[in-house]
Amino acid sequence: MSDKTRFGLDETRIPEAWYNVIPDLKTPLAPPKAFAPDGTELTMDQIGERLAMLFPAECIKQEMSPERYIDIPGAVIDVYKTYRPSPLLRAKALERVLGLPEGIKIFYKYEGVSPAGSHKPNTAIPQAYYNKQEGITKLSTETGAGQWGSALAIAGALFGIDVEVFMVKVSYEQKPYRRILMETYGGTVHASPTSLTDAGRHVLAMDPDSTGSLGIAISEACEVAIKDPGTHYALGSVLNHVCIHQSIIGLEAIEQMALAEEEPDVVIACIGGGSNFAGLAFPYYRRKLDGKSNARLVAVEPKACPTLTAGEYRYDLGDEAGMTPQLLMYTLGHDFVPAGIHAGGLRYHGDSPLVSSLVHDGEVEAVAVDQTACFAAAVQFARAEGILPAPESSHAILAAINEAKAAQAAGEDKVILFNLSGHGHFDLAAYAQYNAGELRDFDFAAGATLHEAE
Ligand SMILES: *Cc1c(COP(=O)(O)O)cnc(C)c1O
Repeated sequence: MSDKTRFGLDETRIPEAWYNVIPDLKTPLAPPKAFAPDGTELTMDQIGERLAMLFPAECIKQEMSPERYIDIPGAVIDVYKTYRPSPLLRAKALERVLGLPEGIKIFYKYEGVSPAGSHKPNTAIPQAYYNKQEGITKLSTETGAGQWGSALAIAGALFGIDVEVFMVKVSYEQKPYRRILMETYGGTVHASPTSLTDAGRHVLAMDPDSTGSLGIAISEACEVAIKDPGTHYALGSVLNHVCIHQSIIGLEAIEQMALAEEEPDVVIACIGGGSNFAGLAFPYYRRKLDGKSNARLVAVEPKACPTLTAGEYRYDLGDEAGMTPQLLMYTLGHDFVPAGIHAGGLRYHGDSPLVSSLVHDGEVEAVAVDQTACFAAAVQFARAEGILPAPESSHAILAAINEAKAAQAAGEDKVILFNLSGHGHFDLAAYAQYNAGELRDFDFAAGATLHEAE
């Protein structure tokens, strides 16, 4: 066992291909479904035509690809090299603070080193690249906490594509600095729901005070793309091509854990739409199929939006207004508007169909946690390790700490690996509320307040 703390990789060792879990699923991938206004089901060709209004051909191809490994374009690798490989660290100080015995070790992969401060550029960069190749001049998108919007704004600036962002209103108000960041990179940002689209106007007519949701913002962004042939839509999570691009996280982590001479017993990541979880966990899933790993794969979601632990496994729309095809996934219903928790990136009614399929088949576990407990874990982590986590990432930290404590109570050895999906430098208003004892936990059913933070 190495006594080092940081396990880097030379940039020449960035993986040259992404991993695609589709051919390795237990149950074959269920195709998307879509219906005409009169209720007749569309054929796959018709769905393909609709998708072509939103996405570049290469992303649509990846969406259904049977290839286990997909080459990363050289131009994408060149940009990846500006911040990858991301570091893998052992949380030795946190282990000490927790009083863990020798045999319990916590490692984390840190995606906050990207220019956007999260894992999101891992897919924003290839998506902008593929769109540019197709002659697209503008990308429209939604953003929750602002992480995805910033990542796409950066990628748009790098590849010379305009970016228009529909930002969920609760986050737009809580996180002005994310908006400023996007605008500085040249993006245009609206608080969603807006009166710029049919979908937004419809929501505002029903509820003028709507705090918005990812589902509503996706409808608005899709509508903009469908109405303009030079504009495509870009999604920062959920879809299979996004999970493929994020596999760079786990592919690097496997090599870095080898440098640490450790094999994780449990691999943990937070889950909103599923992409950072998929990114870290899917390459480990493949490793399990190869007989080289026994790791449990654990997805951590907020109790205010408990898609995997309390949702239904069925076909549902990806957005509020029905612009997207239906996907087979765990869902709380496409009209579900979660309470305004600070982990804005985890406020999505559905989940990646790939992650959902593996949860349904018992290959992936899911747990739900409260936001105040997450902030307590985040502060403990920040004081020990020096990195201020994004509120989303704090869900993974809490689950990792809980795994460590459970192993200690059981007298077991355990190697824990979690993804620290981003830093929290733009989430200081949330930390201010937590520090002042003003944060609450929410029941998912009604957005009702359960109890005050102590
Ligand atoms: C967007 C985001 C998430 C959640 O999205 P996934 O697609 O589930 O990974 C988690 N952490 C951070 C920092 C994010 O920006």
